[in-house]
Amino acid sequence: MTLPYEGKIRVTKLYGTPPPKGFTYAAGKHSGMDLVGVNSKNVRAVAAGTVIRSGYDPSGWGNYVVISQVDGYSCIYAHLNKRNVVVDEKVQAGQILGIEGNTGNVTGSHLHLELRKVYADRMTTIDPAEYLKIKKKTGDLEMEKDTNAVSDWAKEAWAWAKEKELLDGTRPQEPITREEMAVVLERLAAAN
Ligand SMILES: [Zn+2]
Repeated sequence: MTLPYEGKIRVTKLYGTPPPKGFTYAAGKHSGMDLVGVNSKNVRAVAAGTVIRSGYDPSGWGNYVVISQVDGYSCIYAHLNKRNVVVDEKVQAGQILGIEGNTGNVTGSHLHLELRKVYADRMTTIDPAEYLKIKKKTGDLEMEKDTNAVSDWAKEAWAWAKEKELLDGTRPQEPITREEMAVVLERLAAAN
């Protein structure tokens, strides 16, 4: 998957938060994540799929697009100023679906991004931050650390441990348990 904007992104509202004064949320909590494109207002598909809705809901989502994704989730892109896709259209990850806007029930221009396991059931939402590996904080968007990337300072040792088959070479930044440690020590002793 990919982020819904190119360039800088601001997170303005997290998933699961209560409604602001004077608003109500159909699911009782904020069912998606609100984002603002800082450098570009082009809203892009976070994953490939097929457009199943492209419509206008004046009292809620405003101009919105729904993609049934190849990974099985449905993704809603709401409050758009303009929609660039039509129902049944196939889209690629990163493809421009529309322009960020402030249509529908909003206080300002932003993208409401919502992911559901089942489109027809609003209680099946998941946290887009977890899906997109974004840190759960408002302000400038930051990605969660990629635990599959080897730090520069550890590259040589990591390559050696893999070469000697002491470690299997996966998840370099995740902690090791005591039993895994015992296995590594046993392998090391057997190798000498
Ligand atoms: Zn929202």
